[in-house]
Amino acid sequence: MKVVTQLAEWKRLRLSITGTVGVVPTMGFLHEGHLSLVRRARRENQAVVVWIFVNPKQFGPKEDFGTYPRDMARDLALVEHEGADYVLAPPVEEVYPPGFQTRVEVERLTQRLEGAARPGHFHGVTTVVAKLLCLTEPRRAYFGQKDAQQVLVVSRMVRDLGMLGEIVTCPTMREPDGLAMSSRNVRLSPPERKAAVCLYRALCAARDAHAAGQREGEALREAMRRVLAAEPLARPDYVSMADPETLEELATLQGPALASLAVRIGATRLIDNMPLPAPEG
Ligand code: AMP
Repeated sequence: MKVVTQLAEWKRLRLSITGTVGVVPTMGFLHEGHLSLVRRARRENQAVVVWIFVNPKQFGPKEDFGTYPRDMARDLALVEHEGADYVLAPPVEEVYPPGFQTRVEVERLTQRLEGAARPGHFHGVTTVVAKLLCLTEPRRAYFGQKDAQQVLVVSRMVRDLGMLGEIVTCPTMREPDGLAMSSRNVRLSPPERKAAVCLYRALCAARDAHAAGQREGEALREAMRRVLAAEPLARPDYVSMADPETLEELATLQGPALASLAVRIGATRLIDNMPLPAPEG
């Protein structure tokens, strides 16, 4: 496995790679969720590139860029074990050198949910993902359903800009109790870690109410809020029952829907979601 930090060197290398490239964009501090993406990329492509870059542009000024967990040595060992061919891990000045002034912005989809809660987050994401897709020219790029809005926004960008390559969405990997794996989970104290399962429980409450025939969006959102209200350490940021393509909040569910939520547990902000199928018949 080759580790590349300089983009000029990477460009030379990329020109020598023949065959299909699969890329896995990450911010590092890798866990089984990330590795499930790497494994899938390994199965489906001739060359696998893992991007490890904590992207300052997608963090707000009061967010955790400085304290985001990092462990490059461990990450490299993990992706090497999964058979990645290249790790692209540039320093911030390589990605955003002096004079950098380009921004890629998807307009409406980014106004909702995470975009409303974290102004500027998504143009940070789309700008860096656009750069990464240009640098790697992948046949496929792998993203997790865990960040459902991110997949929608990146897919919209790829369609709108006519970028080649397919965006592949991979299922959310969870801990045995249901908590979605996240690099930020290490920040949770033992009582917070226990409390954090309320996100998954809230989503399951919505899923179960939906399976039992509940079609009112507000009743389903309320089912999630009730579960969160029972957890003293949880401070909900939003709960949503939305159209899975436009992310508009639904009054009544007639087709598939996306249940999603963001919750603070102590100082840590966690997100999770669950796609709900269209009612049968
Ligand atoms: P991050 O390092 O958090 O930016 O995540 C990098 C990629 O891994 C994104 O496409 C995430 O959606 C995906 N990912 C993060 N956590 C999980 C998980 N628990 N299961 C599946 N994919 C995940």
